[in-house]
Amino acid sequence: MCLSVKREEWFVMSSKSEVLGGAEMGALREYLCRRSEKGTVVIIPSCALEDVAVLMFRYRKRSEAVWVQKVRGYEAGFVFNLLSGRAAFCEVLGCDEHEIWPTYIKCCENPIKPVLNSEGSVQEVVYIGSEVDLGRLPVVKYNARDAGPYITAGIVIAKDPETGTRNVSIHRLQVRGARELGIRLEPGCHLEMIRNKARELRTGVEVAIVVGNHPAEIIAAVTRTEFGVDEVEIAGAIRGEPVQLVKCRTIDAEVPANAEVVLEGYMDPEERALEGPFGDFMGYYVAQAENPVIHVTAITHRDKPIFQGIRAGSLEDGLLLALSREARIYKALKNAGIDVARVNLSPTVFVGAISIRAKDSGEVRRALEIALDEEPWLKYCVAVDTDVNIFDWEDVLWAVATRSSPSRVKVFEGKGGFPRDPFNLHKSKLIIDATIPIGACVAFERSRPDNA
Ligand code: MN
Repeated sequence: MCLSVKREEWFVMSSKSEVLGGAEMGALREYLCRRSEKGTVVIIPSCALEDVAVLMFRYRKRSEAVWVQKVRGYEAGFVFNLLSGRAAFCEVLGCDEHEIWPTYIKCCENPIKPVLNSEGSVQEVVYIGSEVDLGRLPVVKYNARDAGPYITAGIVIAKDPETGTRNVSIHRLQVRGARELGIRLEPGCHLEMIRNKARELRTGVEVAIVVGNHPAEIIAAVTRTEFGVDEVEIAGAIRGEPVQLVKCRTIDAEVPANAEVVLEGYMDPEERALEGPFGDFMGYYVAQAENPVIHVTAITHRDKPIFQGIRAGSLEDGLLLALSREARIYKALKNAGIDVARVNLSPTVFVGAISIRAKDSGEVRRALEIALDEEPWLKYCVAVDTDVNIFDWEDVLWAVATRSSPSRVKVFEGKGGFPRDPFNLHKSKLIIDATIPIGACVAFERSRPDNA
């Protein structure tokens, strides 16, 4: 497929004032400008919506953020790859690479309550009721056989109908009409629990879908917390200051005041309709299925909003799936008295590595079993020493090749597994000890010149 923009146009940098326009700078816009100044954003002045899908595919394993300043035919821009690398996560969390898990855990354990404002720039433009038309937003159809365009970076805000506590989570949302979305809720997720409670109480679930968020909100939304934790407070902790909220226009919900776009709507807990197929995080299509429906009652957005997407299966998607799972493993290992240095579950979550300083092979084995117990989807887990770069799978494979023996790997059954498993591939697990045999440090010293 050929892109309809000239290649040289892609790299034209726009000046800050040209991009921001008004005096008030929103969170995502400020973030983008800061990154643009550092040169880690590819800026594309304009392209067609079909070409955004192609760009997202081409950049799916790359670390640069991409900002299409105007999608042709729409009064909106589009941004993706905001968190497509560990460096981007570290910048948002304000830490070095090896501190990413303790820093993130600290944010989750020290939430900061949001502040409610009377107005917010996300309501500069408001469409209510019959004025609502999702077709005005640049929503991407990601793959040839996807059922239609999908909102993939929308954080969904809803309240527990019993307690009123807020929940924030990310789900794929199929645009099915001017005012209708399909939504996929993974079994057992918090939004599904809210939906089930609403069904018992014979009420609906009001939802706000926020698109065009500062990365702190995205990281907070994918956090795997206990039910009843308000992820907006975790976003505050990541930012180091309260998130500024504003009340929605047609539903009882509050949304980040400086976000780009908000869709307000409701779910009838009894209603389902066919959703999918969709190219999911594994890089395959998930089949069409009966899933919940959202009716959109309002769209509010900033003037010339910046829409956002996350390509399923991209580096960014893999890192977002990995971070909170890595942190759980890191915390469990620390709690078990194991000297863990790093954990890596990207890009797939199914394959992971931990680097540890272990006293003996029994401790390595214990560490690997803890990792399997903490993350049910983890299928293969490798333990290495701290002289191995666990973010470089080639280096991990080198350790497997030179420091492990097939006679010492161990297979487990009955430790969970990815639930959608028609070919019985995801339920058994394998651990590999690729650490240096105890007492053999000299024999396994990595050879290299002085000063290298
Ligand atoms: Mn939650």
